[in-house]
Amino acid sequence: MSKTIKKIGVLTSGGDSPGMNAAIRAVVRTCAYHHIECIGIYRGYQGMIEGDFKEMGPRSVNNIVNKGGTILKSARSKEFMTPEGRKKAHQNLITAGIDGLVVIGGDGSFTGAEVFNSEYGFPVMGIPGTIDNDIYGTSFTLGYDTALNTVIEVIDKIRDTASSHNRLFFVEVMGRDAGHIALNAGIGAGAEEILIPEENLGLERLLDSLKKSKASGKSSSIVVIAEGDKIGKNVFELKDYVEANLPEYDVRVSVLGHMQRGGSPSCFDRVLASRLGVKAVESLLEGKSNYMVGLSGDKINLTPLEHAIKNHTEIDRELLRVSEIMST
Ligand code: ATP
Repeated sequence: MSKTIKKIGVLTSGGDSPGMNAAIRAVVRTCAYHHIECIGIYRGYQGMIEGDFKEMGPRSVNNIVNKGGTILKSARSKEFMTPEGRKKAHQNLITAGIDGLVVIGGDGSFTGAEVFNSEYGFPVMGIPGTIDNDIYGTSFTLGYDTALNTVIEVIDKIRDTASSHNRLFFVEVMGRDAGHIALNAGIGAGAEEILIPEENLGLERLLDSLKKSKASGKSSSIVVIAEGDKIGKNVFELKDYVEANLPEYDVRVSVLGHMQRGGSPSCFDRVLASRLGVKAVESLLEGKSNYMVGLSGDKINLTPLEHAIKNHTEIDRELLRVSEIMST
């Protein structure tokens, strides 16, 4: 390892996700392991612009591997989207002697890192942290596995009440552009139908499926709906539509919302965060820059930030088929 880099800054940006703390811990401790300094940058790019920095050593990250959220706080910074904002941020990094940056966040945060790198040639490395699992170049983003477990735990509870009252429940989960949470949690929780942004099931098919479900003897049903589904109605309009067309159904709506982002990270997310943090720091020390660290198969890999930003993840179509078979 060349170790031309002497001081690494780490920040969390965009929406928070479980596992971000474990990633911060991994970055800080990998720096300590290689005898280089580490600076925590508070409130994402906004803190970089305002010089909100704090030195971090291995003991500053005690007891956070199990904590949701991010101890460094996260923010969305409009100012960083301007050249003036980025100039201030660069000045602050130089003044603090920071010569490498690890950005933990989603594709917006990576776009910011890439722009910053292209303007100033500043070494940057991205760690994918978002519950949506919608980042190209990694089969798992930090927080996704935890969010899935949170969602199925809640749906299991909803099912208890749904089956006690012979009700149909529409459960809305996060996923404006990607249906990974809806599809996987839907299968895991035994949903009868799953509506996702990538696939327009159509209102008629939904009604048909619910009719079949009733005819086959099911007394209660769960439909999992991603917030960005393409069916053309929001979840409350959909409830009205189904009740108008299938009066035998008593529909209830449950919007899970921000609880999906919280909670203690799963073991999978903690281990992934640790592996990604080590790889991010060691890649910077090897002189690499402008990459995102991610998981491919069971190996940690590097994807150019540019590719991670421009490409999109695809839904696994085999899962759609599995879901259909499971709802027989
Ligand atoms: P999430 O997946 O939770 O939305 P994200 O990282 O995609 O996370 P964004 O709000 O899109 O979240 O981006 C986070 C921050 O990254 C923005 O507030 C802004 O400061 C910075 N950023 C995003 N796009 C750009 C850009 N084109 N140029 C400079 N900075 C940007």
